[in-house]
Formats: sequence, structure tokens, C-alpha cells
Amino acid sequence: MSEIDLPEDHPRYASLLTRHRIEAGVEKGITSKQGLIAQGRGEAFDYLLGEQTIPSADRAERAAAAQLLLADHPVLSVNGNVAALVAPEIVALAAAVDADIEVNLFNRTEKRMEAIAAHLREHGADEVKGLTADGRIPNLSHERAKVDADGIGAADVVVVPLEDGDRAEALADLGKTEIVIDLNPLSRSAQTAAIPIVDNIIRAVPNMTAHAEELQGSESETLQTIVDQFVGSDALAAAEEAIRTGAQ
Ligand code: ATP
Repeated sequence: MSEIDLPEDHPRYASLLTRHRIEAGVEKGITSKQGLIAQGRGEAFDYLLGEQTIPSADRAERAAAAQLLLADHPVLSVNGNVAALVAPEIVALAAAVDADIEVNLFNRTEKRMEAIAAHLREHGADEVKGLTADGRIPNLSHERAKVDADGIGAADVVVVPLEDGDRAEALADLGKTEIVIDLNPLSRSAQTAAIPIVDNIIRAVPNMTAHAEELQGSESETLQTIVDQFVGSDALAAAEEAIRTGAQ
């Protein structure tokens, strides 16, 4: 039995675990009520994908791991849903690729920023960025534009899971290499990403870490070849096909 008192081979296990974690996130003050709605949208796509990591998503996760290992200054962006769903897994990925973790919220309040940072620290994060907010993303309204100048502001590669389309576009316009995790292959965030990962974040993040651990110590050329061979538009088309037809 697990944290939701259901055997892991229960057919709805992943979905029920996800709902449980999001609900707990709202109760703990780290996830917004709108986060519940975002979760519902994601869950519908996951249902159509068969609640599994399709082969094109696994390739995207491998390319993302290679891109993160190649980066000079990678940053993992965390919002209320990400913190509720995969806090320890984000800490493990950050350690595997030597990335910073930065809290970024669509509906930013200092209270929720602090609660998420504390939650990440409880799960092993040493340093959590996002609270200084001394940098700005151009072309976004005030609160959503805030970032840390030495975090996302200075990053060359950013992982933006479950990000809203506007911010994803604004970050890409800044020249950041974006890795997006989003179950909707038609979302603007996924369409904007250099590396779109169409998978549930609860499967995607641990799988990225596993790939990163396996690729650790590889030559830069090997990592670059993995990145270069990945084609984002093909991954999006494969995910859309899987959703529409059930084919993989
Ligand atoms: P767009 O990017 O088209 O502007 P949006 O900003 O309106 O879309 P939101 O509903 O704000 O999208 O963001 C939620 C996104 O996160 C949805 O696309 C949803 O599919 C995705 N999502 C929700 N839960 C998960 C999850 N557990 N794993 C991966 N993706 C998820």
C-alpha cells in the first residue's frame, strides 16, 4: 500500500495519486484553486494517452536530460502544482544535472511563494530561488514577469512544467532554451518549447533523472548529438496522433 492506500497496480492508481497530491497541496497552501482546474485538463489528456510514457515522450525526456547536462546554468521552474506533485523528484533532478530550483507563480503571493519554498526545503532543496524577484521578463504584466536575476534571469536552459503559454512564449523570446512538460501537445507552451515533453509530470521528472544519471560523464559531443537528433515538432505530432487514435 502507498500514500493513498491503494495498491500500485490499481488501474486508476496514477490518477488517484495525482488528485490526492493536488488536494493536499491546496490544503497546505501551496497549490491555488486554479491549479485544480489545470490538473483536470491535464488528467483528460493523460487518460487519452493511456496514462503511460509514450516512446516519443521518453525520447524527449532523454533529449531534455542531455540538454540539461550540457547547460551552463540550468534552472527548474516550480509552481504550485509542480510542488504538490513532484517536490522530492524535482530536488533529485536538480541534483542530477546541477540545476537551480526557482519558484514561479502565475498568481504570485508572498505567502504562497514562501510556503512552496518551505515545502521544497522539507524535501531536501538547499537553495530555492524566486523570492528575491530582482529580474523581469519583458512583455509580461508585472507580477508574472518577476524572476530572480541570478536564477531564471541568468539561465541558458529552463525547465518550465505546466507553464502558461504567455510566459513560455516570453521566456523563449528572451533566447532561453525551453524544456516544457505539458500533457497537452496543442498548448502554446508545448508549441513554444525547444524540447516539448508530452507526459504526466509525475512520470516525466523521475524519467529525466534516470536518463541524466545514465548519461552522466558522457562526452559533450554525444550529448549534443542526442539533442540535435530530437525534433520537437515530430514529438508533438506523435503525441497528438497517440491522443487522437490510441496509436503510439
Ligand atoms: P496554453 O499553454 O495553451 O496557453 P494554458 O496556459 O491555458 O494553455 P493552463 O490550463 O493554465 O494552460 O495550464 C495547465 C497545463 O498544464 C495544461 O495544458 C495541462 O494539460 C497541463 N497539465 C496539468 N497537469 C499536468 C500534469 N500532471 N502533468 C503534465 N501536464 C499537466
